[in-house]
Amino acid sequence: MNKTDKIISQARKEDRKALLEAEAKTICSEYGITTTKFSLAKSEKEAAKIADQTGYPVVLKIVSPDIIHKSDAGGVMVNLKNKEEVTAAFNKILENAKTYKADAKIVGVLVQEMAKPATEIIIGAIKDPQFGQTLMFGLGGIFVEILKDVTFRVAPITEQEAAEMVVSVKAFPLLNGYRNTPPADVKAIVDLLMSVSKLVMDHPEIKELDLNPVLAYEKGTKTVDARIILE
Ligand code: ADP
Ligand code: MG
Repeated sequence: MNKTDKIISQARKEDRKALLEAEAKTICSEYGITTTKFSLAKSEKEAAKIADQTGYPVVLKIVSPDIIHKSDAGGVMVNLKNKEEVTAAFNKILENAKTYKADAKIVGVLVQEMAKPATEIIIGAIKDPQFGQTLMFGLGGIFVEILKDVTFRVAPITEQEAAEMVVSVKAFPLLNGYRNTPPADVKAIVDLLMSVSKLVMDHPEIKELDLNPVLAYEKGTKTVDARIILE
């Protein structure tokens, strides 16, 4: 069995519908999607050791099956520059999680490389009762949240359709570069959409997928957060 099947059947066994970020990212990797490197820490000592190996700055994130939106729970701390900051963040995140949901099951804290800033995009998939697996694309931040500048296609999509999705959002010119921001690697975004299409077509048991945000670099993309919800 491949990693994706193993992760999904393990979640089923535990009666969990929401996969953990590390699980979702492992599945993404199996489909050729580049994500931020991560490692699970169970103690502040372990967190500091992983951070040293990863190289600073790092990001720490809560890992709990009971916390889906990590920042809402004070569960994400970015730009940690040394061991002391990592140790403090580790304890603060656990404390915040407890305040947010006293009985939340805590698996640990994920220590990640801090991705360099770039134009943010969002890729989603939702299983529509009528059309089946449907893909969504938009640019991050206000474009999706406030302006609802998104586009949808029913999966599976061809390379041509993936390319159409990218150019069809109003914010597309931002991906061509502006001021100090270099143009994004549109081909890599197209490849990413194709990979997500394959992933959700291979796994009809995926009800929702959310890569938010993905950083669109001059060369390649990097998925910073991944969420997968099973049926
Ligand atoms: P959630 O969506 O569950 O609240 P995220 O993992 O998306 O949590 O983290 C919240 C925000 O923190 C992201 O939108 C991003 O701006 C920033 N962030 C998270 N992880 C990283 C990372 N590894 N590198 C850089 N920024 C990050
Ligand atoms: Mg997110």
